[in-house]
Amino acid sequence: MTYRAPINDMLLSLNHGAGLQAAVKAGHYGDFDADITTAVLEEAGRFATDVLAPLNRVGDEHGIKLEADRVTTAPGWPDAYQRWTAAGWNAVSGPEAFGGQGLPLAINAACTEIWSASNIAFGLCPLLTLSAIEALDAHGSDQLKKIYLEKLVSGEWTGTMQLTEPQAGSDVGALRTRAERAGDGSYRIKGTKIFITYGDHDMTDNIVHFVLARLPDAPAGTKGISLFLIPKFLVNADGSLGSRNDIYPSGVEHKLGMHASPTCTMTMGDKGGAIGYLIGEENRGMLCMFTMMNQARLGVGLEGVGIADRAYQQALAFAQERRQGRAVGKDGNGSDPIIVHPDVKRMLMQMRAMTAAARTICYATAVALDVSVRATDANTRGLAAARGALLTPIAKAFSTDIGNEVTSLGVQIHGGMGFIEETDFARRSDPRRHGLHRGNRRRAALSRRPHHPDLRGHQRHPGDRPGDAKARGQWRRTGVGAARRALRHRQARRDVQRSDLRHRRTTRWRARRLTCGCSARRSAAACWPARRWPRAISAKQAAIPNAMSPWRGSLPKTFRCRPRRWRRRWWTAPKP
Ligand SMILES: Cc1cc2nc3c(=O)[nH]c(=O)nc-3n(C[C@H](O)[C@H](O)[C@H](O)COP(=O)(O)OP(=O)(O)OC[C@H]3O[C@@H](n4cnc5c(N)ncnc54)[C@H](O)[C@@H]3O)c2cc1C
Repeated sequence: MTYRAPINDMLLSLNHGAGLQAAVKAGHYGDFDADITTAVLEEAGRFATDVLAPLNRVGDEHGIKLEADRVTTAPGWPDAYQRWTAAGWNAVSGPEAFGGQGLPLAINAACTEIWSASNIAFGLCPLLTLSAIEALDAHGSDQLKKIYLEKLVSGEWTGTMQLTEPQAGSDVGALRTRAERAGDGSYRIKGTKIFITYGDHDMTDNIVHFVLARLPDAPAGTKGISLFLIPKFLVNADGSLGSRNDIYPSGVEHKLGMHASPTCTMTMGDKGGAIGYLIGEENRGMLCMFTMMNQARLGVGLEGVGIADRAYQQALAFAQERRQGRAVGKDGNGSDPIIVHPDVKRMLMQMRAMTAAARTICYATAVALDVSVRATDANTRGLAAARGALLTPIAKAFSTDIGNEVTSLGVQIHGGMGFIEETDFARRSDPRRHGLHRGNRRRAALSRRPHHPDLRGHQRHPGDRPGDAKARGQWRRTGVGAARRALRHRQARRDVQRSDLRHRRTTRWRARRLTCGCSARRSAAACWPARRWPRAISAKQAAIPNAMSPWRGSLPKTFRCRPRRWRRRWWTAPKP
């Protein structure tokens, strides 16, 4: 069964669930024409169905090969990648100054879901390139941007993200890769990285590696980490490719699935050290790396959505075809498609609902990130940045969990065929790995996020020095004025709490008035037994209107109201 992009579901999540339409109306997207969204998604869906989805099985069966320090991908992959970049899909949300189309990240997020759903091993490659573009654009020097950014945006070269080492997985601060100053502004890097997605391949002429390393005089832990750009082939002054840099794939992982995506062990420094260029400042690599990581985390969340959607599509098709048993209430011979069975329907509906929820959260994250850079108003940008920072780890953790759950339900619907190669579903039965890469999910949610306002409202980034938040304008004034404002805010909050309390008291008395059923027919507020024994009276009277109450007139004397004198003038008690 081939893949079809669920365009309507995607548009619903994007426009209404994630709030793209509202953000466009509010003017946060400038002159962006939202009408092109449908056209872009339909075109992406067509490409995925025609080119990427058919390569999935080929890639998985053939896998990748490492020979003579070179990784070769499965047949048809380099060609598919060329067609994909030629159609401009790598540049959807890239900066316009470097050849990108400058479309919203939210649209690229929807496209990422399509690439992941149709061919997840293929979709991983641009995901990392996009992260590399973000980091270089935000933190790189003008010279580095001029040489590398345009090629990365167009997809002519791909990017990698290199953090993990054998002893440094979740704990990035434990990394040992060394960088030494070469004296000419460049650095020599030596060390080993593991698990590097698309660390080497034959789909492009050059690969740009983004590597975390430590300088000799760097402080311990994450505060002493710097980010370096290391090209596979050095680039000459005229832009042509020069000699091979000292960074090689020394092994490839044999994974449970995604056999077509090379996950490499990368070795630097066997021939004197890889030539690298600093991105950002020395010892502040974590800041740059977080820019990459957040982008990649959202991408991994979208992988989860893609895999869930594909599992749903396959399970639905299987349930419509596979015939077993009779539908409830139907007699006679023969069998019906399993989709008629209520439990199968339930599982399918659950799969679809969970996928939609994960999709909407991911798209909402992308919209928040868009608004955080596109809105004209600084306050709106700040609020959107905080929302994006909150949602990013949720989008990753929740969506990858949903990928697992939906796939598991899909296996259940397939029965035994869920584990058989020919249904193609087995290829999707091991989505656990998606929760793994780009960092531990729950820990990521706990760690201090960039752009996350601290308790005083300062928007701090990891590794910030004093004054950095102020320089970025993400800093709130303190002092007498701020203290007064805080006091006024506290007073206003207290007023609200008090009026809330008053409101609650009033409603409590009203409730008693309703339930007071003693013969005096007074309001609960005036009825002292009701006030003294509200529970004893109200529990018995609650469901019975006062006039019809069997308790009327028969309450023990102590439970009766004592009518006031002026009431007696008009109230006549029934004579016994
Ligand atoms: C398919 C794939 C592709 C990858 N691609 C890349 C890549 O391109 N670049 C790259 O740099 N890395 C990549 N990785 C590596 C990935 O980022 C790491 O696997 C991940 O960071 C976890 O590190 P680890 O495997 O060493 O696990 P460990 O750090 O050894 O953790 C083992 C377990 O302990 C838990 N744990 C650890 N510390 C804590 C804590 N403080 N609190 C709570 N729980 C904790 C973790 O959740 C995990 O379950 C990839 C991994 C995979 C599987």
